[in-house]
Amino acid sequence: MANKINIKGLATEELAEIIVKEGFPAYRAKQIFHWLYQKKVNSFKEMSNLPQDLINLLESLFHLESLNGLAQQKSKDGAQKFLFQLSDKQLIESVLIPNKENKKESNKERTTICLSSQVGCQWHCLFCASGQRGFKRNLAAGEIIEQILAVQRLSGKTIQNVVFMGMGEPLDNYEQLMKSINILNDRLGMNIGARKITISTCGIIPGIKKLAENPLQVELSVSLHAAEDKLRDYLMPVNRKYPLSQLISACREYVKKKNRQITFEYLMLKGINDSVDEAQKLSQLISDFEAKVNLIIYNPLQAAQHEAIFFPSEEGAVYSFQQILKKNHIPVTVRYSKGQDIQAACGQLRGAYLKSQVTLNNLTSIRDRL
Ligand code: SF4
Repeated sequence: MANKINIKGLATEELAEIIVKEGFPAYRAKQIFHWLYQKKVNSFKEMSNLPQDLINLLESLFHLESLNGLAQQKSKDGAQKFLFQLSDKQLIESVLIPNKENKKESNKERTTICLSSQVGCQWHCLFCASGQRGFKRNLAAGEIIEQILAVQRLSGKTIQNVVFMGMGEPLDNYEQLMKSINILNDRLGMNIGARKITISTCGIIPGIKKLAENPLQVELSVSLHAAEDKLRDYLMPVNRKYPLSQLISACREYVKKKNRQITFEYLMLKGINDSVDEAQKLSQLISDFEAKVNLIIYNPLQAAQHEAIFFPSEEGAVYSFQQILKKNHIPVTVRYSKGQDIQAACGQLRGAYLKSQVTLNNLTSIRDRL
């Protein structure tokens, strides 16, 4: 496997180019895509409509797997967290989140996957377990795609929505991120609509600008968590590089260019950023363009792990904050993090595993089930 390429990181055109050079017709690349993403086969041998010499070529050039399932946790609310080991032994996490469909009359469940885009993260946000352990490396597109295939296989669920909100800052890994999104979105690939894919960023301005130029209509979500620089500098060191005024003007430009709304994520931290005054400042900051706000209730397990630096806001504070945004005509929703009884927030399970706080005895081992 050492010199072989992960086939799941290739777009159809790239795959076609490789096999055409070896004397096979380009349409075979589409067939291979079908086997990989629709039939979800685990070996090239199963691609039964390919000639044997093409199967031999694929086996000599490519490999199909680079993730090793290490552990799985299930929450009472249905969220499931997966810990994977990459071929260089680094660890990443993916989370499966069940959601009821929004329509009142429908009782259908939609499934969202939260993907990692990097091993670790360079930004050290104070409330985030991934940021506390530093940055190791970017994930390749194939490693991003494989998280979905592996989670589908292990959970038996079909995934409708994808959010890049797991470990890492996706816009710091722009090229591989977009490559993976193109494969996810490809009709012959996973065929997931661009509007069902959300990129969540801590506010990387060059990445937001590049995304504004990209024709794909993916959703963009920006983590704000504070409405003034002093507090944001403290909570999110990325703000020292990309301060609020510049970030908000990049978001305004994005909305203008793409003609799409942006979602701002706002983690409600008791006594830190949840005052009426903060709600007014947030309203002023984002009132002149199409944006909505997600107020996120801080996961108490995270609070415990951070030696109680932060606590979830009181219900009353969340309500008052929400009312001020509504009064200022800003669409707002309140979101409770799923998987509060497991280590479902970004980087928590990996952190616990590395510190040996959890072992495979109190998790479900998924090795051999992949
Ligand atoms: S919240 Fe996101 S950007 Fe901040 S440290 Fe964690 S992974 Fe990185």
